[in-house]
Amino acid sequence: GPDLKVISTLSVGFDHLALDEIKKRGIRVGYTPDVLTDATAELSVALLLSACRRLPEAAEQVKSGGWTTWKPLWMCGYGLSDSTVGIIGLGRIGQAVARRLKPFGVRKFLYTGSGPKPESAAEFGAEFVPLTRLAEESDFVVVTCALTPATQGMCNKDFFGRMKKTSVFVNTSRGAVVNQEDLYNALASGQIAAAGLDVTTPEPLPTDHPLLSLKNCVILPHVGSATYATRSTMAVLAANNLLAGLRGEPMPHELKL
Ligand code: NDP
Repeated sequence: GPDLKVISTLSVGFDHLALDEIKKRGIRVGYTPDVLTDATAELSVALLLSACRRLPEAAEQVKSGGWTTWKPLWMCGYGLSDSTVGIIGLGRIGQAVARRLKPFGVRKFLYTGSGPKPESAAEFGAEFVPLTRLAEESDFVVVTCALTPATQGMCNKDFFGRMKKTSVFVNTSRGAVVNQEDLYNALASGQIAAAGLDVTTPEPLPTDHPLLSLKNCVILPHVGSATYATRSTMAVLAANNLLAGLRGEPMPHELKL
């Protein structure tokens, strides 16, 4: 209504806010960057490993009796040693993912974004490349960018078509960065090896969605920042943003509109 003065979101993403209208009405917005970076990066790594080493599928085999005699190629997947990892959006979370993946023996990091970020990239020796090259050369693609008009539907048929058949795709940003039908086709046809998604369109994903029928797709219910400590810190920050906004004081983390 017309009395709304302050919005406080318990998230770093703000793609769910009607920014044009908010700006027009002079409403202040608080959000929660930084405090969820570690938890979300950790979850991104967990999801990547789950997808590339087929953990849910393998665990299911133990329960269903599919685990019989030892077979050399049974339940094989792809490892990070000597691999090339492509990060779409080398922001706070993207850098935290790269920092965690480096000790696994990654050979080369590529990244894409609105422009090169030599200072952030130096820690990983990461190379700024066009999106097409990132798709073609990466063994693992990790999406950690913000959802914007430019990134919406960015991972589409052309993108997956350029990826290697042995490559793994991970998205912990926002579901709408991915064209899900194109992702389904790429996974079902073997155009790419596997995918791990923490975010989907819509959320929750209907339980009869075609992606859920695929063995090579691991889907989580948007739990990137879901540790007790992180959610508690986010809640305190969001409350302080709101209180500062209502008092007309500087917020601990205010979105620059
Ligand atoms: P940052 O603002 O630090 O990073 C966002 C990154 O997106 C920047 O590096 C930016 O690159 C990049 N980006 C923007 N436009 C493009 C583009 N066209 N192509 C490629 N990259 C682009 O945000 P955070 O790292 O803190 O968070 C990133 C996102 O992660 C959030 O917006 C949110 O949607 C999502 N998230 C998901 C969570 C979950 O639970 N799964 C939890 C927390 C966040 P550049 O600087 O070059 O423009």
